[in-house]
Amino acid sequence: MGSARESACDALVSWPMTRRLLACLWCGREIVESESGRRRRYCRQSCRQRAYEHRNSVKGTGIPEDSVILSAQEAADLADRWFAARCAAEDIATAIEEGAGTDELHELSVTLMKLTREAERLR
Ligand SMILES: [Zn+2]
Repeated sequence: MGSARESACDALVSWPMTRRLLACLWCGREIVESESGRRRRYCRQSCRQRAYEHRNSVKGTGIPEDSVILSAQEAADLADRWFAARCAAEDIATAIEEGAGTDELHELSVTLMKLTREAERLR
């Protein structure tokens, strides 16, 4: 039991670094590895294009090329997606406190996974 818990913690610690490599540099969505095995930096052609336009638009401004610039609306939407995920996490905590059954907890956790996946994207 103790070792199972340890391995879960290890997974949590190493997870963000692994994950970071698989996120689109423009939109933050997960990148599906191509069959050739070549590591892609963008999830789709339009993201590659937007990133190229972004690099051109910050040239000579002193703003780093790799900076992530969100509009106020995009930042608000991102905050909203994370807030929804937090609410779903709180729902699970409440359900556990109230002794909810496995089926309900499963349903709530599926919702949480869906919402956190949505929250991963930047735009
Ligand atoms: Zn993308």
